[in-house]
Amino acid sequence: YGDSNQKIDYVFKVVLIGDSAVGKSQILARFARNEFSLDSKATIGVEFQTRTLIIEHKSVKAQIWDTAGQERYRAVTSAYYRGAVGAMLVYDITKRQSFDHIPRWLEELRSHADKNIVIILIGNKSDLENQRAIPTEDAKEFAQKEGLFFLETSALESTNVESAFLTVLTEIFNIVN
Ligand code: GDP
Ligand code: MG
Repeated sequence: YGDSNQKIDYVFKVVLIGDSAVGKSQILARFARNEFSLDSKATIGVEFQTRTLIIEHKSVKAQIWDTAGQERYRAVTSAYYRGAVGAMLVYDITKRQSFDHIPRWLEELRSHADKNIVIILIGNKSDLENQRAIPTEDAKEFAQKEGLFFLETSALESTNVESAFLTVLTEIFNIVN
């Protein structure tokens, strides 16, 4: 955690998208600062956070962009997607609607972003198993059909958050190397 004064070999821009309240900002807080908040306010202002990791002996600065709450108005702009090499498409496993909207987000992503962008579908809030509305298999099948990586995460319990970012960043790394 925290970027030291090391030399940076790569900077990869990754965008978080998905409906409001699915946990995008908390996934980012967990990854970038190892923090979590249960009463997180809607994100204000365009935000990105960075964390530098080592992948195959190279330093990779992940620059992760979080929507400024524009997802409510479905007005995430093309500037948001510009230069992005990875995307995390997030839904809430307890909210059917957030999963049903995934095809729309995917369409928006595919129309605005680079066609080679690496995409992972993320079912967040896996800690709320007793409120689950989306079976894991359904999401897995959708991801397979669309050629996306897929993981269920819990920003609260810190489950699979690191793996989700590593999956995307390692794939991007392999593409550019
Ligand atoms: P965003 O609008 O997609 O950025 O969503 P937020 O990150 O602001 O999270 C919305 C709400 O869901 C907040 O109350 C978070 O504390 C909560 N939340 C986020 N991730 C998780 C999680 O993994 N598990 C649970 N139980 N709650 C979560
Ligand atoms: Mg947010």
